Amino acid sequence: MNEMVPFVDLGLQHQPIQAALEQAIRIVMQQGDYVLGQAVAEFEGAFATACGAAYGVGVGCGTDAIALGLQACGIGAGDEVILPANTFVATLIGVLRAGATPVLVDCDPHTALIDLSAVEAVITSRSRAVIPVHLYGQMVSPSQLLHLAQQYNLLIFEDAAQAHLAEREGYRAGSVGEAAAFSFYPSKNLGALGDGGMVVTRNPRIAQTVKSLRNYGASRKYFHTEPGTNSRLDTLQAAVLNVKLPYLWKWNYNRYTIAQQYDQLLAPLAGVTPIQNDSGRGHVYHLYVLKATQDSVSRNAILEGLAAAGIGSGIHYPIPCHLQPAFADLRYAEGDFPHAETLAQQVLSLPMYPGLSSVQVNQVVAVLKQLLPHSVSVAV
Ligand SMILES: *Cc1c(COP(=O)(O)O)cnc(C)c1O
Repeated sequence: MNEMVPFVDLGLQHQPIQAALEQAIRIVMQQGDYVLGQAVAEFEGAFATACGAAYGVGVGCGTDAIALGLQACGIGAGDEVILPANTFVATLIGVLRAGATPVLVDCDPHTALIDLSAVEAVITSRSRAVIPVHLYGQMVSPSQLLHLAQQYNLLIFEDAAQAHLAEREGYRAGSVGEAAAFSFYPSKNLGALGDGGMVVTRNPRIAQTVKSLRNYGASRKYFHTEPGTNSRLDTLQAAVLNVKLPYLWKWNYNRYTIAQQYDQLLAPLAGVTPIQNDSGRGHVYHLYVLKATQDSVSRNAILEGLAAAGIGSGIHYPIPCHLQPAFADLRYAEGDFPHAETLAQQVLSLPMYPGLSSVQVNQVVAVLKQLLPHSVSVAV
């Protein structure tokens, strides 16, 4: 009898460190420094260092990290910000919240990452920044990004919400651009017990501005130099994240080995193609995503078959940003970004989390195989 395999299981992560988590929460309650307390400053320093960045400023969530981070970079009304259509909507929402003009571009069909030649094609005199989204845990090539940014005088703002500690070409996510946004939403590679986010940067002026923006635009108490907002990383969440951070390397490595096992087991199957990993060991596999490319078996049939067998799955993402009703004002239409649109039809995400066992991975692939009746096994 097969066991259920959930899409994510955060309990596996928390159980072994339950006592330390409770202790950290108790200390915050004893100290009573619930807002911008000691644990926030500690976590900001520790996480920025882990990213290879000089400064970290904790905010309420990843979306705020994008909005406030862009604002602190001096990006706003009249500025064009280039970002991929194939991302979670929060990237686009962050740009709009900063008051800038979003310019969407297509992605590479193999890696699902922003297509940098498409970026080059939309550059105008008003282009100020590009947002590489390190999607599914894989970084956009830093060398190509830096080359492009230098050539066109673009600011790089990384959306690293899915890429905690990801690496490529010797760079770590969060250390390539002027600034970067992270999310600590519970299911991210490093997750809080609720919402959380951070802007990391090498630039002290940007860090200082985010600190002011997250705290009503106050440069000191009751002295407001800009119309900011209230978006702070909770001390309780920072305390939890301080306990979890030391495990992140191990958890990411576990994700990587699970992905390798999936890769190996899926290779002989016709009809499914994993999203390409161009960054080797540096991919941190926030999600394990594959494309259902066989005509006779629709993606939805696979999803239903997995669900019937008790296996969780997801679609990241079913509707690309430019076709979401919320952004109709941007006046994009079907056909504008064909690769993003095809991916939206084809992608599905398999269970992926630290602690997922190799027995479970085998079970997921065995069920998947049964759902691909025409798949041919390659003789070994
Ligand atoms: C999760 C995520 C965000 C937003 O983070 P929140 O903390 O949920 O606001 C932004 N961009 C990407 C790519 C994400 O995956």
